[in-house]
Amino acid sequence: MAGTRTTCAYCGVGCGIVATPTGARAAEIRGDPGHPANHGRLCSKGTHLGETIGLEGRLLHPMIGRRRASWDKALDLVARRFRQTVAEHGADSVAFYVSGQLLTEDYYVANKLMKGFIGSGNIDTNSRLCMSSAVAGHIRAFGEDIVPASYQDLDAADLFVLVGSNAAWCHPVVYQRIRARCDAGARLVVIDPRRTETCEGADLHLAIRPGSDVALMNGLLAHCRAAGLVDERYLAASVAVPDRFWDTLEQGCDLWSVARTCEVEAADLRRFYELFAQHPRTVTLFSQGINQSLRGTDQVNAILNLHLATGRIGRRGAAPFSITGQPNAMGGREVGGLASSLAAHMDFAPENCANVKRFWGSPTIARKPGLKAVDLFRAIDEGRIKALWIMATNPAVSMPDAGAVRAALARCPFVAISEVMAETDCTPFAHVRLPATGWGEKDGTVTNSERRISRQRAIFPAPGEARHDWWIIKEVGRRMGWADEFAYSRPADIFREHARLSTYQNDGQRLFDLASHVAIGNAEYEAMSPFRWGGDAFADGRFPTPDGRARLVPVSQMPLQAPLARWPLTLNTGRYRDQWHSMSRTGLSPRLSRHREEPLVEVHPEDAAAFGLTDGGLARVSTPQGASLFRVALATGQRRGEVFTPIHWTDRQSTGGRTGLLPRSLVDPHSGQPGFKSTPA
Ligand code: SF4
Repeated sequence: MAGTRTTCAYCGVGCGIVATPTGARAAEIRGDPGHPANHGRLCSKGTHLGETIGLEGRLLHPMIGRRRASWDKALDLVARRFRQTVAEHGADSVAFYVSGQLLTEDYYVANKLMKGFIGSGNIDTNSRLCMSSAVAGHIRAFGEDIVPASYQDLDAADLFVLVGSNAAWCHPVVYQRIRARCDAGARLVVIDPRRTETCEGADLHLAIRPGSDVALMNGLLAHCRAAGLVDERYLAASVAVPDRFWDTLEQGCDLWSVARTCEVEAADLRRFYELFAQHPRTVTLFSQGINQSLRGTDQVNAILNLHLATGRIGRRGAAPFSITGQPNAMGGREVGGLASSLAAHMDFAPENCANVKRFWGSPTIARKPGLKAVDLFRAIDEGRIKALWIMATNPAVSMPDAGAVRAALARCPFVAISEVMAETDCTPFAHVRLPATGWGEKDGTVTNSERRISRQRAIFPAPGEARHDWWIIKEVGRRMGWADEFAYSRPADIFREHARLSTYQNDGQRLFDLASHVAIGNAEYEAMSPFRWGGDAFADGRFPTPDGRARLVPVSQMPLQAPLARWPLTLNTGRYRDQWHSMSRTGLSPRLSRHREEPLVEVHPEDAAAFGLTDGGLARVSTPQGASLFRVALATGQRRGEVFTPIHWTDRQSTGGRTGLLPRSLVDPHSGQPGFKSTPA
């Protein structure tokens, strides 16, 4: 097939694309029929990628303050400020805040520079906001952050349970695959407080009370036990069950109590239990509705408990499946780009620190986790972080309580930004801006939700003076004094090193292992076909824990708070079908912008009446953190007492619709993931 095989810029489905340049900055985009993630399908965002690759708004030269600078001057300044800050205040006085938009090679070099050479764990990523509860849940249950599912499981499942996921809009090609299987007879249950497009055609929609997911899953597990559906043989062979796990679980888990807690009809709940009982080949897909919660990790473990206890894991068509938001959230997890992991799926155990330090030949090594995103920006506000490098992300919009994040950035003595766009909401706070290459110019790898590594390939030369992120980071490393250790010439050099680190002192202890790629040649790397690492994980019933067994993790439903008199509503936030993050790319496509032209607050008609709102009128949504104006859309799919706003609009596009100002910066205690889904409003 003519054209360049590459991967979509957007979500974690990781669809393969064939891109054919049709002009200096124009390309025809088709789905790659040979890519196992999508077999040629694309959603609206992927289809219209060709409309978003012009150069309008791009940052094309390094900038120091508001003045154009040479690369040498800009890189020297970043290196000098980081070196000085570390010398004066210690390694933990600096931080990187990076992104699931980076390619794995970029991520690897950033993680190596911060953890091995600067010597701090202070590198965190915007993936903290999207799937870190899934990571924490996987580690608690399996001993390692492994997604035990593949898209082939979708083709073999008889029952899909979608929890906290509007897949029809947010993971459309996965959803199309689910629908195709449903057309062949599989059943679909959607668990979501909102009635979304994903619910159309579902066999059952449970509009549970937000935050009651643990009660629901525990109730189902208790029912499975009573109905003899627990796989005792699998538990005996492969799963450690803590003392009193069942006694604790079964308290308050009768059907009526669960229905009351979740605020659903008992008959609907019974129907869900029956569907689960009748279809052992179940795939439970979960996304932000589970992860972006103050109890996200417990909610993940409630789902994993259910699959482990019923043996619905490690078999084709039976799996819990965390579907990731960003194109390379998974690659970031693999290199250790989260502050809570060291590198290559290793934690900060002393032997891991010693091994990674030896492997890198580094002068130092981070010996403890760094600050997670919310704590990191708090530390900036408190003056504990004095130099920050933001790469490929816009925390002034996307972090919870974004107003406080802006105030923190304004106080930070030094902020460097690697960016594709000239003006973002972070621009006013940047002392240095480094122009980075974007999709269609970058070269490297990404990992999708099912652990499949695919190549992203360039179809255009880097515009202006833009450079690849890995190059920018290694040049700063070189200028900080580590020229030999950051002597990469091409992404393949970095990928080989990343693969070797994954095997170093591994001996099968960790499933993340790229042994087949440690000696990959440059030409092979160029031609690399998509491949899945880890194969069919857990098919042998063995888990990467010291005793080889998974863990059931006792989790209980926390009491749900009644609405406060001053803040009687609950704000939920999320994506639109045709927009991505803060719209710096999708906002360039007129066709994508037609789907939703402005930010709406979706309100149940009875709430609208109570607040004197009319369809198409304006509403000011306020929370203890901030307020913003939205166009009102009456929506019977909203539960009473709950409103929904989109995450995409920023200062650049609109004076209203600023959802980022509204959520609290409260986080899940295990993962540090913010609870975006339930802000008193
Ligand atoms: Fe791109 Fe995701 Fe759409 Fe696939 S489903 S085309 S990866 S946005």
